[in-house]
Amino acid sequence: MVQGKVLVIAGSDSSGGAGLEADQKVLAAHGVYAMTATTALTAQNTTGVTAIHEIPPAFLRKQIDAVFVDMDVDVVKIGMLASTETITTIAAALAEHSQGKQIVLVLDPVMVATTGAELLPHVALNEMCKKLLPRTKVLTPNVPEARMLLADAGLAAQDAEICGLDDLESMGRQLLSLGPEWVLVKGGHAPLRRNYTAAKTAEEREVVMDVLVGPDDQVIRIETLWKTSTSTHGTGCSLASAIAANLAKGMQVPDAVKNACRYVEAGITTAPGFGKGNGPLNHFH
Ligand code: PLP
Repeated sequence: MVQGKVLVIAGSDSSGGAGLEADQKVLAAHGVYAMTATTALTAQNTTGVTAIHEIPPAFLRKQIDAVFVDMDVDVVKIGMLASTETITTIAAALAEHSQGKQIVLVLDPVMVATTGAELLPHVALNEMCKKLLPRTKVLTPNVPEARMLLADAGLAAQDAEICGLDDLESMGRQLLSLGPEWVLVKGGHAPLRRNYTAAKTAEEREVVMDVLVGPDDQVIRIETLWKTSTSTHGTGCSLASAIAANLAKGMQVPDAVKNACRYVEAGITTAPGFGKGNGPLNHFH
């Protein structure tokens, strides 16, 4: 039985591990119905992105409109945005279609692929902060993305180095001031020692902490053991889609996030090992 409907607004990954393709697999694995509006096509595999073709914003708008006028949308999940114009277009569409009711929005602020390709130009950050963050229910940055958003808002240095548990939590709290209701700072780029200080060498990496901050000073820490893996392609997309799926099924944000983190963790552990580079996780478990 289908237990909710999610509109994914994101880019396509031809290798199927990230982007829209991953989002749809994650939603299907959760028993949730996926609808899509495509921001960009990428020619991509586990070793890198070879080309990006942006969808004209007017066409993107038509896709979003077509879904909203006919289908009930429980949750919107946004991934790769591609350009400033795309962001402006999505914000205008969401404003129009949210008339009378709040749209539940999960925003994964995708900026750079693990393999280095730029998926959102730096100049578009400001538009994302201004137009999308204030209508976001759950924002899911990794540490480099959190730093870039805070630097753009003049709140922190982009190249700050150390990152212990305190830094993860304070970044989350500062991001809340930009408008989202909840922020999940993903700690995978900033592994910790067991005493929650920053790991300075590879040998010191012991745990990863994802930190969820929200209303009324709520702080929820989700801890996993550090594991070196070459199967992390699309983890950000998959995590945000799992959160969106859980919200569409009626879970509250803390449970939706905790369950999604466990889903991705298990997906990495049981990854199929496809490709010569950074491969996909297992979406079906
Ligand atoms: N390609 C697309 C279309 C994406 O939306 C994303 C999402 O973050 C990526 C690639 C990045 O994948 P990776 O996890 O390898 O950085």
